[in-house]
Amino acid sequence: MTNVYENILGLIGNTPMVKLNTVTKDIPATVYAKLESYNPGHSTKDRIAIHIIEAAEEKGILKPGSTVVETTSGNTGFSLAMVCIIKGYQCILAVSDKTKAEKIAYLKALGATVYICPANVPADDPRSYYEVAKRIHEETPGSIYINQYFNELNVDAHYRTTGPEIWEQTQGKITHLIACTGTGGTLSGSAKYLKEKNPDIKVIGVDASGSILKGFHETGEINKDEIHPYQIEGMGKNLIPSALHFELVDEFVRVNDEMSAYRTREIALKEAIMGGYTTGAVVQGLIQYGISHELSTEDVVVAIFPDHGSRYITKVYSDQWMAEQGFLNNCVHNYEEVFKT
Ligand code: PMP
Repeated sequence: MTNVYENILGLIGNTPMVKLNTVTKDIPATVYAKLESYNPGHSTKDRIAIHIIEAAEEKGILKPGSTVVETTSGNTGFSLAMVCIIKGYQCILAVSDKTKAEKIAYLKALGATVYICPANVPADDPRSYYEVAKRIHEETPGSIYINQYFNELNVDAHYRTTGPEIWEQTQGKITHLIACTGTGGTLSGSAKYLKEKNPDIKVIGVDASGSILKGFHETGEINKDEIHPYQIEGMGKNLIPSALHFELVDEFVRVNDEMSAYRTREIALKEAIMGGYTTGAVVQGLIQYGISHELSTEDVVVAIFPDHGSRYITKVYSDQWMAEQGFLNNCVHNYEEVFKT
């Protein structure tokens, strides 16, 4: 039987790529989007959830009924909860009290236990989600703490799967890889594999305005003045994750909330690909990169589209939310105006 699986986890990875035909038309290269929303948990994080959990099983740390702990309200939480159901583990997620009720409902629907912790306390406060997660891990024998920002298995998951898939799908023709960086795992793991195959492949990281990753790459220092709140979720950081291998990144571009939001909606309207907010960010990053770099018709660019737009219906896909941000009042009808300037 083909295309039949033992359980939902068999569907993780081997995601399709689709050529972009409209939104990147001003870039002379061929651009492919790797659609990570085709993972069963609808994001790239399925890859790290199964890899980290199976590594702990191999080491004999996780046994039936054991507990998996992480600090996340985002895609990683959803993927961990999914893997835990199939493998029979408890999933405990510590999230900030800024997390939308909708997201908490998503996590609970997949059986996770969610601890809601105050956002406005320092990271080392015992009430912070970092400290709560650490405490649960320490007090629960046989548990694991995923700690995705500082876990090399996050990088390894992409080195073993995402990188080889991209190489095969482009038949080794890829010249540029571009991805948004949060933990850095997706970009670093894929880049490590691809640069081993062809060191000339250019690796471009996309950082958020308000995050320190681009500045750190350029100066080796953390510039606290660059830190400010921003709306794009899942990318950028105010600390340096060890899962981000800066030496593999040729260049960072920095994108803002507004242009990334427009791009996300433009991609839905023109390519009929409904991605998350960082889907717009990575395309915006590529367009900015294309303005300052010579690309040719021979170039083959792969852009990672990390997740699905269904998680952003009340955010970037809501005209009301867009208006509240001070973006266009009725953005749906105004793309040509926006992109003319
Ligand atoms: N986009 C979204 C929506 C994400 O949730 C993440 C993960 N934090 C990323 C991009 C970045 O992926 P990575 O953590 O592998 O750098």
